[in-house]
Amino acid sequence: MPATVVLGCQFGDEGKGKIIDFLGERADVVVRFQGGANAGHTVQVGDELFAFHLMPSGILRPRTLNVIAGGVVVEPGQLLAEIDEVEARGHPAKNLRISDRAHVVMPYHKILDGLEEGLKGSLAAGSTRRGIAPVFEDKVGKWGLRMCDLVDPDALRERLSLVVPIKQRLIQAYGGTDVLDLEAIYTEYALYGKRLAPFVTDTSVLLDGMLKRRKRVLFEGAQGTLLCIDHGIYPYGTSSNCTAGAAATGAGVSPRYLDTILGVAKAFTSRVGAGPFPTEQQDDVATHLRETGGGEYGTTTHRPRRVGWIDLVILRAAVRVNGLTGLAVTKLDVLGGLDRIRVCTAYRHHGTTVKEFPASTKVLAEAEPVYRDFKGWPELPEDDWIRIAKKGPRALPRPVHRYLAFLESALKVRVDIASVGRSRAATMALHR
Ligand code: GDP
Repeated sequence: MPATVVLGCQFGDEGKGKIIDFLGERADVVVRFQGGANAGHTVQVGDELFAFHLMPSGILRPRTLNVIAGGVVVEPGQLLAEIDEVEARGHPAKNLRISDRAHVVMPYHKILDGLEEGLKGSLAAGSTRRGIAPVFEDKVGKWGLRMCDLVDPDALRERLSLVVPIKQRLIQAYGGTDVLDLEAIYTEYALYGKRLAPFVTDTSVLLDGMLKRRKRVLFEGAQGTLLCIDHGIYPYGTSSNCTAGAAATGAGVSPRYLDTILGVAKAFTSRVGAGPFPTEQQDDVATHLRETGGGEYGTTTHRPRRVGWIDLVILRAAVRVNGLTGLAVTKLDVLGGLDRIRVCTAYRHHGTTVKEFPASTKVLAEAEPVYRDFKGWPELPEDDWIRIAKKGPRALPRPVHRYLAFLESALKVRVDIASVGRSRAATMALHR
């Protein structure tokens, strides 16, 4: 703090929600700056479990301001459902602010998402069908509708009258049969606009003012570095920029403010969707990684995640592209019970050693991981891990220390936080 970015180093679902919640205690503002409802954060407070898609994680803390910034694409029905849910469970949403520049996901985006994905063949990334790629296509193509239009019935009607007939032609050209009803869309979205209007403001001005007053701002990344549209495995990723620079562009604040950039990495690798995955496992190790410690199933899609060993070629790219000042390593408990823990330090490709993440999906698909093996640690019930977390880093099993020390020396970045279970209490700051 004062300006801390927390982002994923791998393929999303690294446990960012919990780390953000852990750090959020000290934050005055939590900001979502990219992505949309295709993201999913799980936050557990006591026995209560919350799964957010659009809502910033700080919403559960009554004194924290929560900002959905301009780089986010907003699905209004989904956001209203999340507002209603947190309010129904006793957490008022009055501290929510939404950027007037954030783009809005419309029903035709979702229809086009399904149609485009069906036509993409081997380029299909395994879309969440939330309309994310089409809404970003519209943003860049300048067909988009922003929050400032949604809350203004005249602007909404004018935009829709222009865009809906074009989208209808596109749906037909893609072989779709859906019929868009302009009037019905207008009525539904005007109502969303009316309900969301009290939350909509210029969040760039708001955040700039808070940063100037040295307020503590936590920028909460969604997805992960390897899903980034620019630096991820193209085209098998998401449609937004998920790396540290996007915190500044997405939130509309100067990059000069960003002083701590914390990368969250799982102690292994997992992903949903298609694309090459050099350290992927299929056997008993895969079952162990997928089923232990709460399970590897997507928060948004509930799809079983593909799993494999930790990959330092990936993490080296995450450290570089984001300029990480520290790492949070999650799910160390999940590795418990394995005799041997493998760390991929490089790839072998056609007789050469590859240490930096390759751009070509062909090279990646052909790459053979080079492993360094470590002794495992015992599988423990979550209560035991919580007891260890309470005692502090010294109580961690020795092999965990060795594993983390190796990550630090290989990646040249400090591990600041270790997470050993789902709950907030199973998290510890490391001062090793
Ligand atoms: P995010 O998108 O990066 O916030 O990740 P998600 O919240 O979608 O997925 C992470 C899942 O792992 C959630 O179910 C968390 O409760 C869980 N989780 C986070 N940290 C740990 C950990 O250290 N150990 C275990 N077993 N689960 C964790």
